[in-house]
This record gives sequence, C-alpha cells and structure tokens, in this order.
Amino acid sequence: MLIYNANIITFDPQNSFIEHGAILVRNGLIEEIGTGSLLAKKYGEEEKYDARQRFILPGMIIPHFHIYSALARGIPVNGEPSENFLQILQKFWWRLDKKLTPEDIRFSAYVALIDSIKSGTTTLFDHHAGPGSVAGSLDILAAVFAEMGLRGCLSYEVSDRDGEKIARAGIAENIRFAEKCARQPSPSIAALFGLHASFTLSDETLRACREAADGLNLGFHFHLAEGKTDRRETKRKYGCRSPVQRLKKLGILRDHSIAAHAIDVDEKERRILKECGVTVVHNPQSNMNNGVGFADVTKMIDAGLMVGLGTDGMTTNLFREIQAAALLPKHEKRDPRAGGEWLKKIVTGNHARIASDIFQISLGRLQPGVCADLIFVKYDPPTPLYGDNFWQHLLFGFANSTVESTMAGGKFLMKDGEILVCDEEKILAGAREKAKKLWARL
Ligand SMILES: [Zn+2]
Repeated sequence: MLIYNANIITFDPQNSFIEHGAILVRNGLIEEIGTGSLLAKKYGEEEKYDARQRFILPGMIIPHFHIYSALARGIPVNGEPSENFLQILQKFWWRLDKKLTPEDIRFSAYVALIDSIKSGTTTLFDHHAGPGSVAGSLDILAAVFAEMGLRGCLSYEVSDRDGEKIARAGIAENIRFAEKCARQPSPSIAALFGLHASFTLSDETLRACREAADGLNLGFHFHLAEGKTDRRETKRKYGCRSPVQRLKKLGILRDHSIAAHAIDVDEKERRILKECGVTVVHNPQSNMNNGVGFADVTKMIDAGLMVGLGTDGMTTNLFREIQAAALLPKHEKRDPRAGGEWLKKIVTGNHARIASDIFQISLGRLQPGVCADLIFVKYDPPTPLYGDNFWQHLLFGFANSTVESTMAGGKFLMKDGEILVCDEEKILAGAREKAKKLWARL
C-alpha cells in the first residue's frame, strides 16, 4: 500500500520531516519512504491511501504501564484520604488488585487498548498484578493484544505481600508465559519477568526469581525507589538501606531490564544501574499524583543511563506525558532552562531502542525495514513546521490534536476515528458492568 499526501515526522535524525511525503508499506513493514512525487512515479500500480495532509508519526511506545488499573476510574474512595504512597498502595491498589477476576482483567485490557489506539500508542510494556487470578492472567492479556493488533510486553509482578503461595504462583506465571513466548515467537508479544519492588520481596523470593529468569535469559520489569518508601521499608524489613545494591547483589539488575521510577537514588546507585545495563523509566504524572517526589532525569542521562518515558497506567496518551516531563523539571528546579534535549532523545530515539531490543524487531521509527506502526494525526499547524522544529509542535500542539487513524504491522486498527478491531460501544458497556461489580466487591 502506498500512503501518500502525508506530512511525515520520522523520528529519524537524518531525515526528521518530509512534507508532501509518502510511505510504501508491504508485508507489515515500511519498504520505502520519501517524497510523494518520487514514490508515486515508482509505485503507480500499488494500492493507494490518501492521508489527506495528516501528520504521520511512528506509533507511540509506553515502556511502563498497568492495564489492571483500567476499571478504577471514578471508584468511590471511603474513609480518610491516604497520607502517603504506602497507604495509597495498602488502602487502594492492593485491595483492588486482589479482587480482579479473569473477566475484569480481560475487560481492563480492552479498555486500555481501545484507549491506546485512540491516543496513538501501538506498544505497551505492561506490569500486571491480580493476586486473586494469577495463573493464566498473562494469556488473557496476550489474547486481547492479539485481537486488537497492538504490541505488548507482558509481566506478572511477583510480590510477597499476599503470602508465599501467591508469590510462587507469580513466579510460575512469569516462567510459563516466557516459555510460551520462546516456543511461539511473535512480533507482537514479548515477556519480561515482573517483580513488584524490593520492599515487598524477600531474599528467598528474589533468588527464586533470579534462578528462573537465568534459565530463560529474561530481563526483569520492576518498580525501584518510587519515593522514599522503597529505601525505608527495604531497610526495615531486609536490613539493607539501598534497594539498588540489594537487587544487584541478588542478581536482579541485568541487561534487558526495566526499572520504573528511580526517584530516590544517589549517584553511586545510578552508576550501578548503568553498569548493569538497566533501563530506567520515568513516569512524571504518576509521581506527581502520588506525591512521591521528583526523578532527576538530567542526572540519569549524565550517568549514561538508558531512560524511557512511561505513564504508569495514568494515561495511554504519551503526548500528555511528554508535556508533563517537559514542565516538571522547570517547576521543580525553579529554572526555565531545566530539562532540555534529553526528552526529545528519549521519545524519538530511546523508545525505538528499548522496544526493538525486547521485541527483537525494528520499531519506533519511520525508516525502511521498520514495522509499519503508524499514526495519523489531524494537526493544522498555526505556525511553520519544518525539519527539527517538529519537536516544539509535538510538545505544544499534538497533545490537543486528534489521532484519526492508527496502524500496526501495516494493518489499520482505527480508520478516520472508527475502531475496526472490536465493537467499542459494546465493550465499554461491558466494562462499566464489570467495574460496577468490582467496586461492589471492595
Ligand atoms: Zn508502575
């Protein structure tokens, strides 16, 4: 298919913007990209799709997300509001996740993935919790990803907080799912070994996780230093004042691993994360929402760390998270110069590297040979847009623009605002029913 009459933002630093561009998509991949006049001459016989001047960008990638939070929006919260992060977990999330049934998990996935398609996100790294329905939960998620045509890297968060039996079930679920992914490789589904966080995992459980992951050559996906709680509770429960050093000692910090947050880390700990090849994912809106503090990404970048931008389940709209990530350091440091170039590098470069590494295919850029995960944004720039200034438009214009069409692997999942891969109305009605029953069980 030749997609023509498009303004293309490629995320390729050599050729960042193509006005009146065209993309040739074949077998799920971008085969050629260039000016419309050139490609029209070469591929006159090809099936054509008129992009009507929409801006085409790579599908967004969210490297830390929680699908299981999808049915929590608007939930009535009784009693005194939580005073701190640990209370938010104990009084809210750890009560909710226990009550999730397999059907709740399935509907959460539909809700999150419909939202993703509409916001232009085509790849999610999900971190799942559901201690009441552990076995098979990652298959439920994977089936919805396959049905909806999006890419998902899935993991189950092992924790000792619900007792030994559930911790063991979590380990087994990660192993089972990773083995299945290895047996049936797919360009759309990948696995990481999920762990909650140092402060809810005993040495014994972490050793069992490491042994299991060693056998599968698997990276971990976990929360790290999400505010001061992790250090304080790790010290209180396990006698170690550095979650980073503890996880290193127990063999958890390794290549292909994702640590979400890393707020309360010092210079030495950042160095350890870098040496161990761990990717850190920054989630500014979630950090603000939980009042857990400020993750200094500039220091992470200076330490040479690979950094991604996640949303922690707050939103599937990465454009909104990008805005938050741009503003937060300026506010925090009372310095309008704070933040800067790293954010563009994270979104337009690091995300492609992180996702391509885990899925073992090329993702996140519009270049020949890369998967055709494309989004079509209706954006009429009120000022000139050329070359590198696309980033300022992306920062201040795209979050308020409409993603009209979304394609993954060369297949349209949404066209002109209509979701093609499911009956959206029916699913949302079903989700409301599930949410009502879930809330009643709490
Ligand atoms: Zn998280």
